[in-house]
Amino acid sequence: MASPARVDLDGTPIKAMTICMIGAGGFIGSHLCEKLMAETPHKVLAVDVYNDKIKHLLEPNTLPWADRIQFHRINIKHDSRLEGLIKMADLVLSVLFMQSVAISVMRSMERSDLIAVDCSKRTDTINLAAICTPADYNTRPLDTIYSNFIDALPVVKYCSENNKRLIHFSTCEIYGKTIASFLPKDHPLRQDPDFYVLKEDASPCIFGPIEKQRWSYACAKQLIERLVYAEGAENGLEFTIVRPFNWIGPRMDFIPGVDGPSEGVPRVLACFSNNLLRGEPLKLVDGGISQRTFVYIKDAIEAVMLMIENPARANGQIFNVGNPNNEVTVKQLAEMMTEVYSKVSGEPIIEVPTVDVSSKEFYGEGYDDSDKRIPDMTIINKQLGWNPKTSLWDLLESTLTYQHRTYAEAIKQAIAKPVAS
Ligand code: NAD
Ligand code: UDP
Repeated sequence: MASPARVDLDGTPIKAMTICMIGAGGFIGSHLCEKLMAETPHKVLAVDVYNDKIKHLLEPNTLPWADRIQFHRINIKHDSRLEGLIKMADLVLSVLFMQSVAISVMRSMERSDLIAVDCSKRTDTINLAAICTPADYNTRPLDTIYSNFIDALPVVKYCSENNKRLIHFSTCEIYGKTIASFLPKDHPLRQDPDFYVLKEDASPCIFGPIEKQRWSYACAKQLIERLVYAEGAENGLEFTIVRPFNWIGPRMDFIPGVDGPSEGVPRVLACFSNNLLRGEPLKLVDGGISQRTFVYIKDAIEAVMLMIENPARANGQIFNVGNPNNEVTVKQLAEMMTEVYSKVSGEPIIEVPTVDVSSKEFYGEGYDDSDKRIPDMTIINKQLGWNPKTSLWDLLESTLTYQHRTYAEAIKQAIAKPVAS
């Protein structure tokens, strides 16, 4: 329940605020809405084209927070109501991200009337909306660039013009490849953290050539970060930029053929979950040698809450949010997920649990990869005292328990269905 005695990190009571959250119906947005409703007195103006992942917070009307959350079904690409919502906010949270499955829905919305509900009083803005699945970056570069740069422009502009604080979601992908990846394989400097740990205020952004269209996302995200930063420097915009490092947990993406298109390619957690649920080998792209650090969504949401409620410490900052202790290669992730899934589902491990595929076969032309992503935690530690808590094993155990409970039956039925001839 909301507590009236909430104080910030400096002991000052926190005033209730209205937050305009753009992309609130997605993975991160849904967890953030849940936390804001359960533990704070803040109001949320939830903007998205979808609300499936927050339906449990919107219905029924008897929920204790029913008067604190409003859903606005708006495509921010072209909807004049966006500025009105931002004007009503104390904080704007921009969590925009657009996967190909969402693009098709938005295209159909462009031809139909959009539904919106009424909203009221003062608000802040969080923008979470964007396209963010690697399978889209190289195959739908135009949608990727439009969604992550062009569509985010009005959000930044309205915040700046109306003096609204903005928390903008960027990505760890804007670091691109590590400096170490360009050194010879046996070079001793490859082991030196200065050559691979990613620091907000020191690391360069290293992308591949233009024909490697994978980098269209990183490049668009980098430019919008630079714009937000410049609005801060030249026009006094109060902003915080968040760089998520592979946040994972329940409700991430979709399971192809169940709650997303059969041919869709979600991010790795959902790809591997789908394989495990179907009893198929997990596909290791180019041998699964790339390394990632995974952080549990619930830990990461704690960091965002600290940013929301501590503006004096968060404004003007760019924060890495990840778990440097949870580093694995994609191959190790596949092995761990296989073991954890067998434990939580009671299903035996199949004889050949993984299979190698080329990136061209899996993602198509123009794919490239980040080799390694370890976040430096100095800034977030100093400003907000935040540290992630959950180990990779534990976060996979709770996430795969959710995946099994949510999807195993639907998959069984889909597999049992006779194929139409
Ligand atoms: P998500 O796809 O689950 O959620 C994004 C939401 O934005 C979706 O519900 C989508 O419908 C909405 N959206 C997109 N375009 C829109 C538009 N034009 N109008 C209205 N709504 C729109 O993605 P997520 O994982 O929750 O990511 C949120 C943000 O965090 C994105 O900016 C993404 O780039 C960033 N990010 C996330 C991760 C991660 O680990 N999950 C990693 C790096 C960056
Ligand atoms: N990957 C894989 N098999 C899959 C899906 C992804 O080997 O079925 C790899 C992908 O090539 C990348 C890593 O897993 O190296 C993480 O991919 P994800 O889609 O989660 O996004 P990224 O971390 O690259 O932004």
